[in-house]
Amino acid sequence: MIDAKTSILGLLGQPVGHSLSPAIHNAALAEMGLNWCYLALSCKTNDLTKILEGLRCVECKGLNITIPHKQSVAKICKNLSPLAQELGAVNTLIPTENGEWKGANTDVEGFLAPLKTSEIDWKSKEVVVLGCGGSARAVIAGLQKLEVSRITILNRSEKNLQMFLSDIEMHQANQKQLKIRKSQVTGCLYKDPKLKKYISSADLIVNTTPVGMSTSPAQAINKNQLPLEEKIWKTVKPKITFYDLIYTPRPTAWLRLGAEHGHQCIDGLEMLIEQGAASLRLWSGIKDIPINVMKNAAKVSLRT
Ligand code: NAP
Repeated sequence: MIDAKTSILGLLGQPVGHSLSPAIHNAALAEMGLNWCYLALSCKTNDLTKILEGLRCVECKGLNITIPHKQSVAKICKNLSPLAQELGAVNTLIPTENGEWKGANTDVEGFLAPLKTSEIDWKSKEVVVLGCGGSARAVIAGLQKLEVSRITILNRSEKNLQMFLSDIEMHQANQKQLKIRKSQVTGCLYKDPKLKKYISSADLIVNTTPVGMSTSPAQAINKNQLPLEEKIWKTVKPKITFYDLIYTPRPTAWLRLGAEHGHQCIDGLEMLIEQGAASLRLWSGIKDIPINVMKNAAKVSLRT
């Protein structure tokens, strides 16, 4: 119950009206007996600095950051975790003793969670990533941590792909200096015929585009949308892994197709829950987070 001692946590973004984060975090907080309340706070880019300062002044216990503010917060924040610095993106803010915020990123941990519980040894595997937007950056960093041998990024727009590859290249130059083993990263456009070769040799394919997502009955047409054409998905090797970052609908048309052809399928719900649980660990200092309570709360919200 909210009382005079309740502290706040929140999500800053725009829009935030469809977010599952309040449901999953408030369910976990109740289970953990913490007198904290998690709110979705719509925030315009121009108000970001003021809102961050204000929330720090009212002893806000922690924040999640979502679209479109992840990169802006990384620039505003003076104190960043090494991973947030590497990605140039913050999804979690932790209050520090000197009255400031520390920026962290739990998206990579969230993305990796279902891959780490799988029995497959991902080292030396070939991976195709569809799309190169905000979430793809964390996906690539995660795949590099798994030391996969090759990552091919397939994208529709040439300009966005080039920008994304330059950013990765810059980061790989730093890795070389640190002597970290790196995965080979290349790009290919949707219209390039070489795309078929990459798809047919992949062990893992990750969809980071919003193609197939539908958040309301009005968008139900998306439920049948596949990334690329259906026939290309018949050319993949047997028993590979399809990983779709989308968690609504469950399953997407692409994962349904993957399951029909006997592939291992992972949707975005576990990533969402695990990145949230990792944030809650950082805010509370408590290691054991009630993941199943969070998952059930998300499933109930997705049904309503
Ligand atoms: P984003 O930054 O907007 O990235 C969009 C990417 O998708 C771009 O590469 C874009 O290609 C491509 N794309 C968009 N529409 C397309 C279309 N019709 N055909 C082909 N390519 C298209 O999005 P994001 O923030 O990375 O999020 C992507 C998806 O991941 C969303 O559905 C989001 O809900 C989901 N997500 C899930 C989690 C989770 O925890 N499970 C976390 C983050 C995101 P161009 O460059 O050609 O425009």
